[in-house]
Formats: sequence, C-alpha cells, structure tokens
Amino acid sequence: MTDTETRTDWTRDEIAALFDLPFDELMWEAQSVHRRHHARGEIQLCTLLSIKTGGCVEDCGYCSQSKSADSGLKATKLMDVRAVLQAAAQAKDSGSQRFCMGAAWRNPKDRDMPAIVEMIEGVRAMGMETCMTLGMLSKEQAQTLAVAGLDYYNHNIDTSPEHYGNVITTRTFQERLDTL
Ligand code: SF4
Repeated sequence: MTDTETRTDWTRDEIAALFDLPFDELMWEAQSVHRRHHARGEIQLCTLLSIKTGGCVEDCGYCSQSKSADSGLKATKLMDVRAVLQAAAQAKDSGSQRFCMGAAWRNPKDRDMPAIVEMIEGVRAMGMETCMTLGMLSKEQAQTLAVAGLDYYNHNIDTSPEHYGNVITTRTFQERLDTL
C-alpha cells in the first residue's frame, strides 16, 4: 500500500491508540495525513445554511431545534427555493466550494421533495458540491436526492440502544423503533 491510499483495514486497537494520543501528537498525525493528500494550506470551504429551523418533532435531548427544547427558538417553514439559491450564490462569491443545507426535520415529507430537488439542482448548476441533512429518509427519497445530483448526505448516529435513554429523553428505544 502506498502513502496516498486510504486505509480501510483499521483495527480496534489501532483506533484506540489514536484516541489515546496526546492532542499535539494527534494534530501532528492529522497534518501529516493532510499533507500527503493535499497541497500545503489547502482546505475546502463549505457554507452551511439552515433551510428549515426549529420545531422538530424529535426530542434529542441536546438539540435546541427540538419542539420539546426550552430554547425559545421560533420554528420556521422550509425556505423559499430562490432565497436558498441566493444564499448559495453569495457563498460561492465568498469562496465556498460546497454548500450544505440542513433542515430541522425528523424526516422530510414527500410534499417537500420537489423544492429540495430544485435546491440541489440549482446549487449544482452553480458549480458547487451539494450536501444535505434532512433527517431520516425513505429509500425512495434517498433515490430522489441521488438522481437530483446530491453529492453528500449527513446523518448523525446518536448512540447505542443501551445509552439511548440518556439522549432521547422522552421515549425508550423500543417505543422509538415502533414508530418507524
Ligand atoms: S432529529 Fe435533528 S433537528 Fe430534530 S431534534 Fe434531533 S438533532 Fe434536532
């Protein structure tokens, strides 16, 4: 294996050893890997826009966008496509190569998908990479995003079933599974 290939055969012990490194050592390792793959000082600029803020029906205990959170955040509707594309154009003018759009949804509704597709197509037409985070997707919704040309999808995996009750505060893991 050459220095520039991505490793996919990490063992648990090797990963644990990385976690145990002193922070400055970890930074050194990270910089060494970065320099092997990218020009010195080169980073990708990415802009993140909240296209739908607050009012999420999920109850992740750490999230200010949950309907159950005591954050005082005012929920908004999905942004107008033109406003999103204006923000994307500004991001491009400011040097961003990727535009990420996040919505505070547990999962998108099918009626929202046409606008989402227009956003992806519009941002792609500007020559930027697209990234979205919209919550859980059905297989059909994932396919729709792929066909529209979405480059990246971000989805956080919160925790294990054993630790679930410490994160999602009002439902058990089983109750949550029953709703899927
Ligand atoms: S699903 Fe996402 S937006 Fe909704 S409460 Fe959880 S972290 Fe927040």
